[in-house]
Amino acid sequence: MKEYVLSLDQGTTSTRACVFDRAGKLLYKSQREIKQYYPSSGWVEHDPEEIFSGAVSVIKDVLEKNGLTPSDIAAMGITNQRETVVVWEKATGKPIYNAVVWQCRRTALFMEKLKNSEKEAVIYSKTGLMCDAYFSASKIKWILDFVPNARERARKGELLAGTVDSFLLYRLTGLKVHATDYTNASRTMLYNIHTMEWDKDLTALFDVPENILPEVKPSGFDYGVTDKSLFGEEIRICALVGDQQSALFGQRCWNKGDIKNTYGTGCFLLMNTGSVAVESTRGLVTSLAAGTLDKPDYVLEGSVFVGGAVVQWLRDEMKLISTAAESEKLARSVDDCGGVYFVPAFVGLGAPHWDQSARGLITGITRGTRREHIVRAALEAIAYQVFDVLHAMERDLKEDVTALNVDGGASANDFLMQFQADILFADVMRPEIIETTALGAAYLAGLVCGFFESREHIGKTCGFKVFKPSVPEAKRREMLLGWEEAIARTKAR
Ligand code: ADP
Repeated sequence: MKEYVLSLDQGTTSTRACVFDRAGKLLYKSQREIKQYYPSSGWVEHDPEEIFSGAVSVIKDVLEKNGLTPSDIAAMGITNQRETVVVWEKATGKPIYNAVVWQCRRTALFMEKLKNSEKEAVIYSKTGLMCDAYFSASKIKWILDFVPNARERARKGELLAGTVDSFLLYRLTGLKVHATDYTNASRTMLYNIHTMEWDKDLTALFDVPENILPEVKPSGFDYGVTDKSLFGEEIRICALVGDQQSALFGQRCWNKGDIKNTYGTGCFLLMNTGSVAVESTRGLVTSLAAGTLDKPDYVLEGSVFVGGAVVQWLRDEMKLISTAAESEKLARSVDDCGGVYFVPAFVGLGAPHWDQSARGLITGITRGTRREHIVRAALEAIAYQVFDVLHAMERDLKEDVTALNVDGGASANDFLMQFQADILFADVMRPEIIETTALGAAYLAGLVCGFFESREHIGKTCGFKVFKPSVPEAKRREMLLGWEEAIARTKAR
């Protein structure tokens, strides 16, 4: 009996394999870190061979350690760091260059020029994305321009390209299937999210030949099987999905207006906007939601660059805390921040401010300021930044949000979640299991292979802890005003 679904979660800092049962419960997990390469200032790379071998080893490990074999697995789903690209040889599957990671700024100048041209509006109207080096297109172009003969080899059909999901799929299927899903495609800046096809104007603009790009399918789809040589027997691959959309799906945000925020290194706020691709006037981007149908829902997305990372900074650079969890204890030991505001604009500000040159600051320091105040202000800053993105969404949609689903490492912090509820004036709902990224891919794969009969049949595996707003409105307004002032100073430097 095939009693389990497997989810391969290939993230920016690690690769994990998770095994779920029919109730959608996470039973087993195996994880491996991946090495980060910084070959030049602002450049970030991964070794695609390490990504592939890591993926194979975590799958083997999670099966072997728990007495499972591939025949116990109904299907697997792959969820992945988005936007990161790989270019490889069709005949061998060997990459011709390292993976250029989403964080990498090497193409910033090129994208800045496009941003200041008439192309910016064209790109937004076709892809829903802001002109930024973050997305895949300029990264593929860079590899083709940089690696000797790459462009010519691409034209001859000797090379293939794609996001990490498509590279893994190609290698896992023994070089048989070159495909991706629409959530990943929607983050490349080459895919038209309205016509649902690679866009000829954009592939020409970025000089990326269409013949090297993968075929685009729904996130939940029967993509093929793993090569027998890898795990002894075949495993069906029934989902590919970008990590944030996977978390949205795993949080069961299946209806218009459902929204989730992931508190990881950064924060990623995604709202399901149904069949409407919302045009943002406030710097949010529009992408495609995960699904099993040919025409998926749209999502509106805003990201905060420095979320949980500010806690890491307090721990590793400032040495104000020794563990991330200690931040909660310190924050609770004072009644408020004592007038201190902390804007962690370490790499500029994202949505809705979009100021690349802004840098961090701490305001309102007095002789009475203690480390507890600074730590508390840092946690509050995470919540204020999420407020800013959510508020921009509400204004784009002309609707109020009354409940936010949360996940990610920093969502474990009860102080932060309560403060988030207070400042948003909305309920914050935290599931007992916060591995929602892996869960989304497992749900999708399970739906395709019939493991789950329908979305409605997937058991609600866990309860939620609900944080309800409790601070008086006048106090909330006063705190928000202080934050706005601090943001204004950050920008006016
Ligand atoms: P990623 O997937 O981006 O690596 P995770 O979801 O694993 O991130 O979350 C890790 C982040 O959460 C780190 O930046 C860490 O500082 C932060 N974090 C973890 N636990 C806590 C906590 N109890 N309070 C505040 N921040 C936390």
